[in-house]
Amino acid sequence: MKYLSTRGDSTLRGFSDILLEGLAPDGGLYLPTHYPQVDAALLSRWRGLPYAELAFEILSLYIDDIPAADLRRLCQATYTEAVFGTPQITPLKPLEEGLCLQALSNGPTLAFKDMAMQLLGHLFEYELGRRGEQLNILGATSGDTGSAAEYAMRGKRGVRVFMLSPHGRMSPFQQAQMFSLQDENIHNIAVEGVFDDCQDIVKAVSNDLAFKRRYRIGTVNSINWARLLAQVVYYFAGYFQATKSNAERVSFAVPSGNFGNVCAGHVARMMGLPIAKLVVATNENDVLDEFFRTGAYRPRGTAETHETSSPSMDISKASNFERFVFDLLGRDGARVQQLFGTALQKEGGFTLTREEFARIAGYGFVSGRSTHADRLATIRSTWQATGTLVDTHTADGLKVAAEYRESGVPMLVLETALPAKFAATIVEATGVKPEPPSALLGIEALPKRFVVMAPDAVAVKQLIETHCTADTLA
Ligand SMILES: *Cc1c(COP(=O)(O)O)cnc(C)c1O
Repeated sequence: MKYLSTRGDSTLRGFSDILLEGLAPDGGLYLPTHYPQVDAALLSRWRGLPYAELAFEILSLYIDDIPAADLRRLCQATYTEAVFGTPQITPLKPLEEGLCLQALSNGPTLAFKDMAMQLLGHLFEYELGRRGEQLNILGATSGDTGSAAEYAMRGKRGVRVFMLSPHGRMSPFQQAQMFSLQDENIHNIAVEGVFDDCQDIVKAVSNDLAFKRRYRIGTVNSINWARLLAQVVYYFAGYFQATKSNAERVSFAVPSGNFGNVCAGHVARMMGLPIAKLVVATNENDVLDEFFRTGAYRPRGTAETHETSSPSMDISKASNFERFVFDLLGRDGARVQQLFGTALQKEGGFTLTREEFARIAGYGFVSGRSTHADRLATIRSTWQATGTLVDTHTADGLKVAAEYRESGVPMLVLETALPAKFAATIVEATGVKPEPPSALLGIEALPKRFVVMAPDAVAVKQLIETHCTADTLA
């Protein structure tokens, strides 16, 4: 399988070339040249496979530059009951007839990002080892992504993580999760500033191309194709659990921010998985809902981005969205370049033509939005009716899912985090305080490993240099 850019550069790359990279050189995102098709016979063969085997089968359709035996071993090392809590890895939790949650958040950081990031950790270690290279991952986090990256990369050979977070602004639980890691290759940097200051430092360091090359600075952001590919697997796993035969269809409702998660659903559907609807659920930051209703894509500025009680969906610009638009426009890279490369830069947005917009129906996408009041009402009613506590992001998914249910088509709502991560809003809705899994009880009291720094890119660069020359990675 080869990979191309969404913006028309026709240079073809292999999987392991794009694994350690971000954007394509022309500013586009990587996609496979085609989507391998699954037919009824293949679906029947996959039905009932353990999760790690299913992951191997799907990944091997997209990865031909890692020997099959190695890829299978990496999948088996990633998707274990020890890491994800259950033998099914992403079990379904029925709520009522035709409606269930698919649990994606039983990994080490209690959010669905572990599903992909854990695999990325194993893939990075493997590929860096094969090349005899090292990578320094530099990132900024306000919570979920940073901790998922650290738990995926801890103890991995060839990789160091430098994670910036705003000093004193994460929840005590999130802070304890990250800062209690004692691994030599994980470096927590608490910046005396806000999240934007952290992000500015990452940008400043990455813009110093000489430094970036010399110290092999990389990222693990959500546009990485390997992350997206890992997420395709659980759509198949959910489908097999919810159906008895391949003649049945299901719908998925997906709490969305950067469009990574639901874009994986799009890939699964393009491969031929019988998905009726892909329901895009947003919070008050409804850029995507607006697009699917009107065909106009208008990313917001930071000032117009609301801080909500489903904070992991507080995005202004959906960084994976270009992948879907590329497919929607018949993979016309020149048109995507016009929209994302030109119109977005010059006019701050774009509107599809009437004919282009009309094609969306053929891709199964529908959308809706949810507000803080909706979130509270959904958490409360779900608790009262089923005795299940859901987190705030999952509640947005449930709220919008209710608008699109059809009889005879099971609706699977992706559970993207556990309620314990967002306890304050759960208490506000139900009066009940959700507890984290027993293994994490009391982590706030563990010793913490972090340094506090001024918001100063030069100082951060010095810190990276010091570690790169002082310690040699295992
Ligand atoms: C990241 C995240 C989302 C949004 O997922 P995207 O792939 O960015 O659309 C939703 N819920 C939670 C809990 C998250 O951490």
